[in-house]
Amino acid sequence: MGSVVAIGSANVDVIFRVSHLVAAGETLHARDVSEAAGGKSANQAAAEARLGAPARFVGCVGDDDHGRLALRALGDAGVDTAGVRIRTDAPTGSAFICVDDASENTIVLSTGANDLFSPDDLDDLVLSPTDVVTLCCEPPAALVAEAARRAHDASATVIMNASPVAGFDPQTLQWTDILVVNAAELAALVGGGTADDEVRAARSRLGVSTLVVTLGAAGAVIARTDVITRIPGHRVEAVDTTGCGDAFLGALAAGLVTGHAFEDAARRANAAAALAATAPGAQPSYPTAPQLERDAM
Ligand code: ADP
Repeated sequence: MGSVVAIGSANVDVIFRVSHLVAAGETLHARDVSEAAGGKSANQAAAEARLGAPARFVGCVGDDDHGRLALRALGDAGVDTAGVRIRTDAPTGSAFICVDDASENTIVLSTGANDLFSPDDLDDLVLSPTDVVTLCCEPPAALVAEAARRAHDASATVIMNASPVAGFDPQTLQWTDILVVNAAELAALVGGGTADDEVRAARSRLGVSTLVVTLGAAGAVIARTDVITRIPGHRVEAVDTTGCGDAFLGALAAGLVTGHAFEDAARRANAAAALAATAPGAQPSYPTAPQLERDAM
């Protein structure tokens, strides 16, 4: 069996609960503050490992408490972090998040050590044809492009999440096997909505063999060549949908690397992401394989 290799970003989220979002010039006392491991690629790796797939994370953190927290969370999830660079010249990436009583939020992101992750850092990366590589658009575009190219050259399966869509580099499509976007990202990339014909046309225009569009509570729609498959959403009591997209992508990769056929892996991803919506936070809400079998399949 190959492994899932998430290459990219790791952050620590510092979450302040506040009565209202702070105004310019205002000083506001938080009700409480908590820290949680985040970053899209680290989230993907955690989702993959919790579902029992052999998972590696490759990225950059700082030599600081946040870096240690990020690595500990990955280790606890079962992720191999041997490929992580610890930089002494930048802090770990962090997101300062305020969430108010109406669940509105503001986020200030400091990318920190993630910005220093360079194509040269991939020189000793070993990939095999049975590996599944997961990528997103948080790290520097040159790094993501090089990771996609190397994975493609190694005949690994490349799953690209075009998120945040502003960082997406269309040249990576030539090395991508499966492109995953949400409805807003699809609209930003090609315009249009998520009707069968629109998704079929979007896949053809983007030139990938498989396009997956996640639809929040409505599940997902998949275009594989010209065949459209709809996967209905699971009805759950959604508490916090932070990191659901990363759970979907990680679970899809985990399903593929552990031998599930594509449509089955996508159904498992949809179920895992729905479960991730039922608990607060990103990584702590991701299901294990037994939870997935018991609660959602
Ligand atoms: P993103 O989190 O990237 O914006 P989506 O909102 O489309 O992406 O959510 C990703 C996946 O998470 C969906 O395809 C679905 O499987 C699951 N999901 C998200 N929100 C819900 C919800 N309220 N109920 C059930 N499943 C959900």
